[in-house]
Amino acid sequence: MKKGRIFVIAGPSGAGKDTLIKRAIEDLNVRLSVSATTRKPRPGEVDGRDYRFLSDRKFDRLVASEAFLEWKDVYGNRYGTLKSDVEDAISAGLDVILEIDVKGALDIKSRVEEAILVFIMPPSMEELEARLRGREADQESEIKTRTEIAPWEMEMGEKEFEIVIVNDDIDKAAGELAMILGR
Ligand code: 5GP
Repeated sequence: MKKGRIFVIAGPSGAGKDTLIKRAIEDLNVRLSVSATTRKPRPGEVDGRDYRFLSDRKFDRLVASEAFLEWKDVYGNRYGTLKSDVEDAISAGLDVILEIDVKGALDIKSRVEEAILVFIMPPSMEELEARLRGREADQESEIKTRTEIAPWEMEMGEKEFEIVIVNDDIDKAAGELAMILGR
């Protein structure tokens, strides 16, 4: 059977990755990889669907047993892509999406030659900040951390990613992403 493809989708926090991905994969047969994290679940999040929510000790054990394709500390919590998750999907011929941070994406780029890197670019820094402020879940300190790293992330997006989608219009951007995933 033909193996599935690996898409890595990254971009600054607030660029609209979640909404865009959900919209783009509505009619596609693509799997979203479920990462493991030490972050506590937010209201409405389901273990095993949104993330695998793990204790620090369990996460440590997975790191020690080399279960992760990559893992990173992102805004004070650890997040990792499980090798088994990606392998199972692509071996079954399914395309898989990893929605991970920019540093994790660059790791995958250097380790998995066939991975396709897609960057979601906000229309501007001002717009990014406005979107982060519009999200009630984020504290002021979190907004600051996320906006501080965004210029570096955007530079990496331009330099290192094969595909850049500007999310200035959700319908247009979701259409572009769906075309890339579906072809
Ligand atoms: P959140 O806590 O808001 O769900 O995610 C915070 C950040 O962690 C996002 O930028 C998200 O893309 C990133 N992230 C989620 N899962 C992974 C993962 O498995 N690996 C890496 N490197 N980053 C991840």
